[in-house]
Amino acid sequence: MWSWLSCFFIGHEYTVHCEHGEVYLRCLSCGRRSHGWSLEHASHHRG
Ligand SMILES: [Zn+2]
Repeated sequence: MWSWLSCFFIGHEYTVHCEHGEVYLRCLSCGRRSHGWSLEHASHHRG
């Protein structure tokens, strides 16, 4: 309920999520989502 307060004072508590070949950050407290990065791009460097 007051989770936005911790986001406001402490900052967002981002955790890494992977979905549909994309990785993005999501806040545990308020659910705010960053824009995603495509994993295909990173895997290109392998090999
Ligand atoms: Zn937050």
